[in-house]
Amino acid sequence: MTERLAQPADWLLEVNNLSCGYGEGSVVKDVSFALSHGDIGCLLGPSGCGKSTILRALAGFLPINTGEIRLQSNSISLPGRTLAPEKRRIGMVFQDYALFPHLTIAENVGFGLRHENRAEKRQKVMELLQLVHLQDLAEHYPHELSGGQQQRVALARALAPEPTLILLDEPFSNLDADLRRRLSLDVREILKTLGISAILVTHDQQEAFAMCDQVAVLKDGGIQQWDVPYNLYHEPANRFVASFVGQGGFIPGKALGPDTIESELGVIHGNRAYRWEPGTLVDVLIRPDDIVYDAESDLKPRVVEKTFAGTSTLYRFRCSEDTEFEALFRSHLDFYLGEHVPVRVEADHLIAFERI
Ligand code: ADP
Ligand code: MG
Repeated sequence: MTERLAQPADWLLEVNNLSCGYGEGSVVKDVSFALSHGDIGCLLGPSGCGKSTILRALAGFLPINTGEIRLQSNSISLPGRTLAPEKRRIGMVFQDYALFPHLTIAENVGFGLRHENRAEKRQKVMELLQLVHLQDLAEHYPHELSGGQQQRVALARALAPEPTLILLDEPFSNLDADLRRRLSLDVREILKTLGISAILVTHDQQEAFAMCDQVAVLKDGGIQQWDVPYNLYHEPANRFVASFVGQGGFIPGKALGPDTIESELGVIHGNRAYRWEPGTLVDVLIRPDDIVYDAESDLKPRVVEKTFAGTSTLYRFRCSEDTEFEALFRSHLDFYLGEHVPVRVEADHLIAFERI
């Protein structure tokens, strides 16, 4: 593994055993993670799992029930003690841009600059607009800009007061897929150039992986895994992470040894050893790219679903009622519904969990 998580001395942000919510009880439960200087972290999870609630606590809009939030080693939130949002040096960017409609782009960006004189302010605003490639639109109004441009203005506005940390709450979800991908890479580059740390909230795994150094996968207000993207995909900590991150599903199997499982797809060998006893019943993760076409194979599951996607086709195969899985083939491998197709498992990353 070449990637590594940062060492404690590098931490910019530390979230320890955080619980918070609205009224009685907590929506976010016992959440802990830490972000090092210059890194971009992500809170990834399905809608309603508590991502925005964590951001509100980080920004200082929501008091916390347990734990502590520290920024640059200073405590900014404790139960009963919440440093005011404007004292935190944390910038925010929201899904709906939230620009002031009656102010020009330059005025929007300069809005939070209170201590600079006119000339300084103007220079700083123009530098920021240059950074987000909008210098030519300085005197325009928000309604004259596209969604992607407005979001870049929102980013420039959040960056203007030179925050220590930027929080981005689903900033690209109002944009179409292409623009989203481009803008997420642009924003990553801007943040990296400035060396500003950020936390991105998203339910989109592609976006999380493209933009972030470390990702927290959340479910029901709790962190399931905090890790680099590679590990989330190849070494998911549990079933939820395995199914939420990447495609795939589980088939039943039985352990023959620490790295070998017997299933209806035959004997599957992996490159990692588990601690289970031989005979343990397990669920094995099969991702669509783990299955290859092999004319010589005796394994011939039946096609039960077929989704054509241009360069590739996603097939759903069935061996028996318990064993169904998906496979992604290049689209010149064309099979009909009900056809029995010879295939083989080719998974070096054997991921399986003991059946409960
Ligand atoms: P996410 O951002 O992951 O979609 P949220 O953090 O917005 O989720 O919401 C988490 C939970 O808290 C949800 O069940 C939601 O209904 C609840 N919630 C969010 N905002 C409020 C609020 N202002 N008052 C009461 N409950 C809220
Ligand atoms: Mg949200």
